Amino acid sequence: MKYDELEKLAEEKESENWDFRKFLKFHDELSEDELDKLVSKIASKYESEIECTSCGRCCKKLKPTLEQQDQQRLADRLEMTVVQLREQHLEYDESDDEPRWQMRDVPCPFQEDNKCTVYKDRPQDCRGYPYLHEPGFNGRTMGMIERTFTCPIVFNVMEELKEEVALDDDIEYDCW
Ligand code: SF4
Ligand code: SF4
Repeated sequence: MKYDELEKLAEEKESENWDFRKFLKFHDELSEDELDKLVSKIASKYESEIECTSCGRCCKKLKPTLEQQDQQRLADRLEMTVVQLREQHLEYDESDDEPRWQMRDVPCPFQEDNKCTVYKDRPQDCRGYPYLHEPGFNGRTMGMIERTFTCPIVFNVMEELKEEVALDDDIEYDCW
């Protein structure tokens, strides 16, 4: 998949993905744990096939959250104080219920040639993205559908997951 085609493909699949989300909520053949394991297994396959360094889209499009520890680690790395880090690179986002410090600019100023120049000291949020090996996938499908527009790994996982779950049960999830 060419990365610049991803948004178009994700848009084409969006409605189907929302239907699948609804389907999963009422699908009790697969336990939450089994679903998480299946997602993680499919994700591992695509992670080995898709090189993040040939993509780098998340660093170009998203603003990671920086908790206090992330700020301190990054400030130390850049040989500046947390206050200086905030002034130069961060913003305080109060737009939702949980205000947070996040990277101010996109693309991220620490990305160079699709690589992270502060890799060892990158924020926890960057380390976890796109969150395909965390428990509770079924409760996080809204965020996953959003991520199909940014991350080719998530896009492919969603596509294969729909096939696996629907084929397993011979259920047409798009009938909702
Ligand atoms: S800190 Fe590194 S991994 Fe995180 S968004 Fe910036 S370039 Fe990407
Ligand atoms: S968007 Fe996904 S595939 Fe691309 S760099 Fe980020 S995690 Fe890797």
